[in-house]
Amino acid sequence: MAILVVKVGGAEGLDYGAVCRDAAAVVAAGQRLVLVHGGSAEASALGAALGHPPRWLTSPSGYRWRFTDRETLETFAMAALGKVNLRLVEGLQAVGVDAIGLSGLGGRLLEAHRKAVVQCVENGKRHVVRDDFTGKVQKVNRRLLLSLLDLGLTPVLAPLAISEESQAVNIDGDRAAAMVAGALQAETLVLLTAAPGLLRSFPDESTLVHRLERDQRDQALALAADGMKKKVLGAWEALQAGVLRVVIADGRIRDPISAALTGAGTTLG
Ligand code: ADP
Repeated sequence: MAILVVKVGGAEGLDYGAVCRDAAAVVAAGQRLVLVHGGSAEASALGAALGHPPRWLTSPSGYRWRFTDRETLETFAMAALGKVNLRLVEGLQAVGVDAIGLSGLGGRLLEAHRKAVVQCVENGKRHVVRDDFTGKVQKVNRRLLLSLLDLGLTPVLAPLAISEESQAVNIDGDRAAAMVAGALQAETLVLLTAAPGLLRSFPDESTLVHRLERDQRDQALALAADGMKKKVLGAWEALQAGVLRVVIADGRIRDPISAALTGAGTTLG
């Protein structure tokens, strides 16, 4: 049976109720489903409420990430697991999907490489940051995920992984979803976000790019800014890992997953 991986974005405007109802329809139709989610907006709000607002850093090549010291990591985990994961598992159970909430730590479900010393640019100046607990997924425990799917469960994964040295690290949800989709040889990866897909001229929603071919990665990257860049990178990583197609689509609408599977959004592959 085909496997579908869906990443649910963390930005405001996403309709979790609609995602859960549609997930139920997809599972009832026989698809095996794995959900991966974000937690960025919730983590920022919780950090601010706890007097520890996020500090954003930019790499020399232009990628922004949340500086994650141990306190930030724990706040991120509280938000991602205690708010977003809880809400999705609860919402899925309420519509009859036997969801199981997990992070990448237990069972070494997602193992990441942590760079403890990273270069960044802040206020135009380059410097080195230590003690950053951010990682990039290198290994997925495919057997564990397949066993859960075989039991009829729908795994819901929070964007936290275990480092090679067994420390908890914060990971990017889009690229984690791409690694999961590749490891499971998923037929489709859907990245749901608060935009209709990749826009040629953001934020003009009438400029949706409907289709991108495998050799158009650099054109796609040139159109994308901020969080969309990670989606485009993740999309190509998934295609390279053997996923047949990736759809970047709107998570704010009714039936967002079914719409993505039937031509809405930006299809790559
Ligand atoms: P999520 O939280 O859903 O993972 P992000 O907020 O990190 O997503 O990234 C998606 C966002 O990127 C969109 O909601 C939009 O604000 C922004 N964006 C930047 N460039 C583009 C583009 N070319 N097309 C669509 N969205 C874009």
